Amino acid sequence: MKEIYLDNAATTRMKPEVLEAMLPYFTDYYGNASGVYSLGARSKMVLDQARGKIASTIGAYEEEIFFTSGGSESDNWALKAVCEAYQHKGKHIITTQMEHHAILHTASYLETRGFEVTYLPVDHEGFVSLKELEEAMREDTILVSVMYVNNEIGSILPIKEIGELCHKHGILFHTDAVQAYGHIPIHVKENQIDLMSVSAHKFHGPKGVGFLYIKNGLELSSFIHGGSQERGRRAGTENIPGIVGMAKAAELAHRDMEVNEEKISKLRDYMINRVMKENTQVFLNGPKGENIKLRASNNVHLSFAHVAGESFLIRLDMEGVAASAGSACTSGSTDPSHVLLAIGTDRELAYSSLRFTLSEETTREEIDRTCDLIRQIVSQLRELSPIF
Ligand SMILES: *Cc1c(COP(=O)(O)O)cnc(C)c1O
Repeated sequence: MKEIYLDNAATTRMKPEVLEAMLPYFTDYYGNASGVYSLGARSKMVLDQARGKIASTIGAYEEEIFFTSGGSESDNWALKAVCEAYQHKGKHIITTQMEHHAILHTASYLETRGFEVTYLPVDHEGFVSLKELEEAMREDTILVSVMYVNNEIGSILPIKEIGELCHKHGILFHTDAVQAYGHIPIHVKENQIDLMSVSAHKFHGPKGVGFLYIKNGLELSSFIHGGSQERGRRAGTENIPGIVGMAKAAELAHRDMEVNEEKISKLRDYMINRVMKENTQVFLNGPKGENIKLRASNNVHLSFAHVAGESFLIRLDMEGVAASAGSACTSGSTDPSHVLLAIGTDRELAYSSLRFTLSEETTREEIDRTCDLIRQIVSQLRELSPIF
């Protein structure tokens, strides 16, 4: 029985073309990009090519792309470095209650370092109010960090409007675009983004590599001290195979974006419709109805009243379906998802929630089998439930 993988917001399968592009840089071309010998020159060349390729996908200049170890590092760097560099202007930053923990935990660390953080509330579909954002801005606000696409419920935020608002008030704008890059077209200049985090393993690239876009002119300190790699701002011998793989994955994702997104969102809607029709007391979390166009194309997030999410996941896994209870970072802990609580889901229902995230590799047959299983398992688990 083939595994049905529906946890693509957590990580994705690396594409065979990506592995193929990476392999020579483990075996034949292993030279250090800083070396003066020709083996090093080859690494230096592919590093520059990868940087150029990535920059062109977001309308940035090459020197604005800094390779990192992934989304978490990029988020940490953006927040900590802006706070350090601009603290003479003020010590207040604004973010939202539904960010990834890489942002939220960095923000609470910064609170221990004398910074003040406003955590903006979000509405029942996971959107921030521009009016509330503007009201939260102060003389001493130096940074706003709002995610592009929420990783749990799939809300796509109005990044351009947020960027414009920040710049109108002279505030820097960072976005965690880990769930957006490779799925929706992003132009950092048009969207007025100053810093942006991306991770390769979320768009069929390798794990442990990503980048931070830093707009020219921002004087940020080095995140990792050491050698002069990444223009002296992020030391350490470059992860050439990873970077080559990320550039390849970026190329494929952008080449096929339109076709893939159309295909995936059709499957998403098909799955949502089937599950809503075939089960009672099931609720779709995140953007819906009119707002479905503001929902990530791959995201299906559902709550099933009186069904324990953890038991549901285990039953699905026994049948070969990989899904998730909210986010990978919250599963395993006993707290319900902070995102579901932020959108006002009651605690009991939050524990009865599952996230299915599709990819272009997902087939109609896989979704049909998953929907059949959902119907069976929901009715079985409810028969066992004393309160249903
Ligand atoms: C996965 C994810 C991250 C973390 O990225 P890593 O590369 O795994 O460190 C950060 N933000 C969002 C929104 C994510 O989905």
